[in-house]
Amino acid sequence: MGANTLAARIPKIHLHCHLEGSLRAPTFVELAGKHGVPLRYKSDDTAVDRDDPYRFETFEEFLYIFAAVSRSLHDPQDYARLAREFVEDALAQNVIYGELFISPSVWTFFNPQLDVRETMEAIAGELRNARPQADFKLLPDLTRNFGALRAMETVRAMAAMTDLDVIGISLGGDEIRFPAGLFIDAFGYARSEGLHCVAHAGEAAGAASVRDAVELLGAERIGHGFRALEDPSVVDLLAERGIAVEICPSSNRLTRSELPDYPHPYIDMDRSGCVVTIDGDDPTIFRTSIAQEYALVEEAAGADALERFVRNAIGASFAAAEAKRAMEARLDAAVAELRAAPRS
Ligand SMILES: [Zn+2]
Repeated sequence: MGANTLAARIPKIHLHCHLEGSLRAPTFVELAGKHGVPLRYKSDDTAVDRDDPYRFETFEEFLYIFAAVSRSLHDPQDYARLAREFVEDALAQNVIYGELFISPSVWTFFNPQLDVRETMEAIAGELRNARPQADFKLLPDLTRNFGALRAMETVRAMAAMTDLDVIGISLGGDEIRFPAGLFIDAFGYARSEGLHCVAHAGEAAGAASVRDAVELLGAERIGHGFRALEDPSVVDLLAERGIAVEICPSSNRLTRSELPDYPHPYIDMDRSGCVVTIDGDDPTIFRTSIAQEYALVEEAAGADALERFVRNAIGASFAAAEAKRAMEARLDAAVAELRAAPRS
């Protein structure tokens, strides 16, 4: 990535980034060692390269890595370190704003003794150290696999943590076995508490799952969403309502083997009038970064498209109007500076 590419210079916005999936590889190995946790869940980790612990071949192995990462994060101090290193990595890449996913029901599944509020305080405290260069908010994920009752419990707990920068809820996990219909009450309650609502959909399941996330859950943005392309009426729904799709190119390539490397479906979605944004999903586990994802997009779709997607992300964020204007001004300045700079 050249220093004069737009991807290298442009301010960056996280709208689809899992904090736990941002754990640095060496920190994962160190924390796993400290807590006596293997580097793979439910499988032998003796063959894992400790210098490259996130290398995986199958989707199942990815899930086992995510589980092992969750187990290695054992107490609030570990989460504080995760958030502190996340901030260092984000500022180094010129990230200026983020709405980050966290998965408290996964935390307590693997570590039932964990004090969730204390952990949230540890995370929010570290994230606030990024100010004023960057501002981070939290979107706790309800995790479909734990079912409707657990989802409602998570919403109730998180609605009481808006003082810790919780601004909404998200829905991830197995969208085939745990469809949107199960979570109507949880999302309705979240909305009644003034929380924003987003959902992963149209990644493993098809276009109907995207429609359900919008129509049944009131999702204001869709994580991934590219399988909306299987039904033009769902693409139209997203485009007409201006519901952004959070596209994560490397994540999709690594977990969805049927996807072509190029062109990624986001190019078609952009052409169809959808609001496309770009992010890294679980960036360190996918051995990428938001800067690298921006670079991939600049290479595949061009600098103008990348600039449009970053502007889309500012617009699709839940930041206040004044904060959005300030972010746009920082983006304008970076773009102007790049245009004035000599080409390398
Ligand atoms: Zn995700």
